[in-house]
Amino acid sequence: MDRTEDLHEEKQVFIFDTTLRDGEQSPGASLKKHEKLQIAHQLAKLNVDIIEAGFPFSSPGDFESVQQIAAEVNGPIIAGLCRATPQDIEATWDAVKLAKRPRIHTFIATSDIHIAAKFKKTRDEILQIAADMVALAASKCHDVEFSAEDAGRTDRFFLYKVLEAVIDAGATTVNIPDTVGYTIPDEFGRLIRDIRLNVPNIDKAIISVHCHNDLGMATANSLMGVMNGARQVECTINGIGERAGNAAMEEVAMALKVRKAYFEGCHTNLNTAEFYATSQMVSELTGMPVQPNKAIVGRNAFAHESGIHQDGFLKGRDTYEIMHPQDVGLSKSSLPLGPRSGKAALKAKLMELNLEIPENVIPEFFEAFKRFADEQKFVNDEDIAALVKNFDSARSSAV
Ligand SMILES: [Zn+2]
Repeated sequence: MDRTEDLHEEKQVFIFDTTLRDGEQSPGASLKKHEKLQIAHQLAKLNVDIIEAGFPFSSPGDFESVQQIAAEVNGPIIAGLCRATPQDIEATWDAVKLAKRPRIHTFIATSDIHIAAKFKKTRDEILQIAADMVALAASKCHDVEFSAEDAGRTDRFFLYKVLEAVIDAGATTVNIPDTVGYTIPDEFGRLIRDIRLNVPNIDKAIISVHCHNDLGMATANSLMGVMNGARQVECTINGIGERAGNAAMEEVAMALKVRKAYFEGCHTNLNTAEFYATSQMVSELTGMPVQPNKAIVGRNAFAHESGIHQDGFLKGRDTYEIMHPQDVGLSKSSLPLGPRSGKAALKAKLMELNLEIPENVIPEFFEAFKRFADEQKFVNDEDIAALVKNFDSARSSAV
């Protein structure tokens, strides 16, 4: 059977947020219990499908935090991460079982590099452990996700065998992580496609992708995963995470939204208007600032400063904007004034501030503005008011 035909029937892409687990593993980003709960409530408002609340066996604090989120946050599935060992799985089940929809997410590394360095075991032994531990998890929870850690560097044929075995053992989602951010979009897309073509029971599980950003390709790799049949994307707010971070949820979701036709109707169920508030909250609580030019949620993502862009934008927003700021939770675009701004934006600003400069002296005022702007990085509203005042008084004394 050609699986490439039936794959596009299911168009919903589940969003698996791991801000509280992988995101919190960012150096210096650790969060307190009440802060994690606050973020989890906000993620529910954003309408993510799954919240990975933590790694319960890693510390008593994380256990309590996952348990609290499972008990108190309604809406999304609540997942806990665990290694493929009985103690880890027990602890994770204890932490998530209070959720209305709990998930156990267990993982084991499948690449030869990891198997040799971390486990000193054979591939067959790893295969057996994976299947046994998924079966154990499935005996407790009907929603089990399995991750083949370092899948991006795992031997293809071994990966197919592991996935087939864990799906037989009860895994309902199989996650393909590019743990070290090594793959290239086309290559990663082909990996997902080949999994669909070569794992005989793959239609019994959802394929998930989990991409890291070491080469700046986490979002692109995730989207290529979707193009090739993945229907769950693991990601974080602001792209925080180990090392260079994870795929940024806001980028993946807005790419699917803005380019819906290109992605053949694949969509998320996110309330994207909550992105800005969520981004700000995660940034404040983790202490990790968002770079101004960050896609979607950066301070400058909807700001136009150059004169040509400002003029075009004022004539028709579509000239320089591919999405509405309201779609991500901003009230409007901004036209910050600076040395490269033009007359059109300056006039728009004067109107916004209810300041009047007679039409015939606008060129003269524009020159005064330019001289001022050349000295400054930004020209704010107070500066404009002061410029108008000085300009007026200079003119009246000249009369
Ligand atoms: Zn990761």
